[in-house]
Amino acid sequence: MRTVAVLGATGSIGGQALEVAEAHRDRLRVTALSAGSRLDALEALVRRVAPEWTALERADDADAARRRLEDAARAAGVRQPRVLVGVGAGARLAAESGADIVVNGIVGAVGLEASLATLARGARLALANKESLVVGGPLVRAALARGGSLVPVDSEHSAAWLCLGGRPAAEVARLTLTASGGALRDHPDWRRATRDEVLAHPVWAMGQRITVDSALLFNKGLELIEARWLFDLDWPRLEAVVHREARVHAIAAFTDGTLIAQAARADMRLPIQLALSWPEHWPGLTPALDPRDLAGLSFEPIPAGRHPAFDLALAAGRAGGTAPCALNAADEVAVAAFLDGRATLGEVPQTIARVMDAHRPEPIESLAQLRAVDAWAREAARAAVARRA
Ligand code: NDP
Ligand code: MG
Repeated sequence: MRTVAVLGATGSIGGQALEVAEAHRDRLRVTALSAGSRLDALEALVRRVAPEWTALERADDADAARRRLEDAARAAGVRQPRVLVGVGAGARLAAESGADIVVNGIVGAVGLEASLATLARGARLALANKESLVVGGPLVRAALARGGSLVPVDSEHSAAWLCLGGRPAAEVARLTLTASGGALRDHPDWRRATRDEVLAHPVWAMGQRITVDSALLFNKGLELIEARWLFDLDWPRLEAVVHREARVHAIAAFTDGTLIAQAARADMRLPIQLALSWPEHWPGLTPALDPRDLAGLSFEPIPAGRHPAFDLALAAGRAGGTAPCALNAADEVAVAAFLDGRATLGEVPQTIARVMDAHRPEPIESLAQLRAVDAWAREAARAAVARRA
């Protein structure tokens, strides 16, 4: 029996992780749940899952929230519920709950601390929170060198993980990640796309921020940075292609000329389950593709100049150091402004570009340094959004 903590339990990844755990009750037991601010949704999950540990990051009334979550856990049969409320509660839960595996389904740079806390106590990190690697890749690698293990949940990285089979980077000639192209792949004027058009992703149902990032192909840029740290590959060996059918998720080329591709239905429950079952493959919730489903697949280059947010992400990835931290923070603010109706989609890359023009990247030294860069970039992005409004 493996015990599992699900961070970001009220989200898209978190909900699917709970589905996987419920389908494998004989091997997985969820002992801890965390959320950001949605107390009602978390309370409902506590009643359903009966976790010993619960964490809520933000509450209007912390004492009242704590009492409600404790009552919900007791009603579900937990004798001594442990409830954490307040900033950093998710990271404390990762550190203190003792779960064998921590699924990090938190959205945003704020998820980095929970990733580091998981590795610091030698547990397995099932990582969906790509920002952990985008923002703090060197810190995550340093933590991994000291202990713990990481299995990626992001679908392209889960696929690449299988293709690469743990072989050293020196044997890898190229890693290709695929992109479906997002909601606006056939849109005549993406800069003016509406919120509804952007949130209608053709392939994946995900949280709002990653759906907007996917429409801009910014998400693919983040994923290349994620792959750079996850697999220790330098930039000339990393690429992304548009693959509209979304059946092949990654392709690894080895130096001897071998090409290994992974293909699966677009269903996040598969990579989530693999991160929980690894190194085993358990019966899944999604049937395998038929090889005949692979007939006529298309792979095309990402059109140059059409996706400025993708180009900005690549430039930040290549610059390295604190650049991806500033990039991500600027995007979080710009995407929130778009979702609130305070900015057009075209203004999202413009805002990021403003912030990146003003940022002078430094080598990454500490979490405190990254927090400072993150705060600076958010402020700079807010100012850029306000100037335009
Ligand atoms: P959602 O927006 O659906 O869910 C986000 C979760 O994080 C919610 O549980 C939310 O809680 C919680 N949260 C928000 N703010 C905080 C905070 N400050 N501290 C702690 N928890 C917080 O996002 P997704 O599930 O789509 O994405 C989660 C992560 O996984 C992202 O990094 C994304 O890039 C990555 N990912 C997602 C995929 C998908 O298919 N969804 C695919 C690949 C990667 P609350 O509900 O209370 O706000
Ligand atoms: Mg992905």
